[in-house]
Amino acid sequence: MRKLLKLILSAVLICSMAACSNTPATDNSAKNEPEIDVLVVGGGASGLSAAVEAAGAGSKVVLIEKASNLGGSTNYSAGATVRNATDEEASTYGALKGEELVEYFMTVAEQNADRDFIEFIVSKADDTVNWLKGMGYQSDYMAYEGCNSEILSVEWGVGGNQMIQILTDKATELGVEIVMNTAATELILDESGTVTGVKATNAEGEVDYLAKSVVLATGSYIQNKDLIAQHTELVDVLPLTGAPGNTGDGLKMAEAVNAKMTFKGPGLLSSWTTTAPIGAVPQAYFVAVDPQGNRFVNEVEFYSVFANEAIKKGISQFWLVYDANTIAHDMSSVAEHETMLSADSLDELAGLMNVDAATLKATIDSYNALCDKQEDTEYGKNSKYLEKVETGPYYALTAFPLAIGTFGGLSIDENSQVLDVNNAPIANLYAAGEVANADFFGEVYPISGSCLTYATTTGRIAGQVAAENAK
Ligand SMILES: Cc1cc2nc3c(=O)[nH]c(=O)nc-3n(C[C@H](O)[C@H](O)[C@H](O)COP(=O)(O)OP(=O)(O)OC[C@H]3O[C@@H](n4cnc5c(N)ncnc54)[C@H](O)[C@@H]3O)c2cc1C
Repeated sequence: MRKLLKLILSAVLICSMAACSNTPATDNSAKNEPEIDVLVVGGGASGLSAAVEAAGAGSKVVLIEKASNLGGSTNYSAGATVRNATDEEASTYGALKGEELVEYFMTVAEQNADRDFIEFIVSKADDTVNWLKGMGYQSDYMAYEGCNSEILSVEWGVGGNQMIQILTDKATELGVEIVMNTAATELILDESGTVTGVKATNAEGEVDYLAKSVVLATGSYIQNKDLIAQHTELVDVLPLTGAPGNTGDGLKMAEAVNAKMTFKGPGLLSSWTTTAPIGAVPQAYFVAVDPQGNRFVNEVEFYSVFANEAIKKGISQFWLVYDANTIAHDMSSVAEHETMLSADSLDELAGLMNVDAATLKATIDSYNALCDKQEDTEYGKNSKYLEKVETGPYYALTAFPLAIGTFGGLSIDENSQVLDVNNAPIANLYAAGEVANADFFGEVYPISGSCLTYATTTGRIAGQVAAENAK
């Protein structure tokens, strides 16, 4: 009796601890009940969006998350989204909307994406951003310069973790059961080959979750070295950033049930950064030189295009070179940073950079000659940024490309239903977000915000249709 009382008391204590915590209640007990309508696998922006929509439609929803916290790579993000320009933004900034925005995505993807699908996502983008805002998503409007100097309407969030928090709060309010530390490993099929749930593992062992609809929202494969080596280029030289749980599990599970898989090189959502804390990439007043001291890129290029140029040329580290005048544009705050090299002459600077002095001098002389002509016949840099590098002190800051996500994987249709190798929808199986972005992106990340608009839009649709399917 005393033992029983002790057990009850401990259970009460554990329950009240869970209730006080901000983390959703963790339930690792085995579940075999077939009455789950919608099972969502993965608790990032796409999975939580799916869960919120499905629960809002009246479904019994369970979301399983492999990690001990929700948010995946979404937590790492700036929380930016992209949408169509309003008429006012279009006339004030020339920001893109409708077909122009679709054309932009297609052009950046070098036509290697699905136009109809992009049109569909673009048509839903504004509704998604408003839906997020309606739940408390905070953002500031930015007329953001993307590829080819096009202007896009970006909502700059306060951080992806804020998006996760509001989606989690909403999911909890709607009764979504969130189960942490539980990794889906395999899709369960019935004798006719139809998806009826997933097998998963947790601290206690294996668990089967039977459900009428399954949504895969497992994010990228950025943390899976084998998949990265198989499907992307030059990753051995790149730092990879993304949630530890993003090991491509959804891809493997879906591939095992005949899902279509598409990968496009280099396959990476790439960017670049510097060793000094500058927040965003700087304006293009610098001269970018490789470790040999040669220029290698049009410095104005949008950050993902710039990074891909470096990746394709095998450059894992490069320098931003400034003089006393060019650094004053937007980098004065880091002029004294410990990683910023400075010297009175270019020769001395080359020595600090460990670059051949004659090569660096030739690069800068040739750059200055282009500035004199106000025309970059080498790389086509916008003349607005063509300012000579000729007045000491001279500066050099280390920069490097990095990958923050992956492109390629599953194909989904406008119902977020996973397509098989014959382009037919797989019954009861849906996917959203980075695990299923093969048809939206080409090789290049088109604009800040496009991943989250994609994740939340496809997640919402997956949740709505999965709920309907479960009826
Ligand atoms: C540094 C950084 C900055 C970024 N900034 C932006 C930005 O501002 N705007 C933008 O649009 N995009 C940005 N991105 C990209 C964007 O964050 C992602 O594309 C987006 O968050 C993906 O959402 P998701 O729901 O598909 O995946 P995630 O948010 O990564 O969620 C996937 C979840 O699935 C879980 N999971 C994986 N496998 C399993 C399994 N087997 N069982 C259960 N759970 C599993 C993972 O643990 C993870 O929690 C950024 C990315 C990074 C890394």
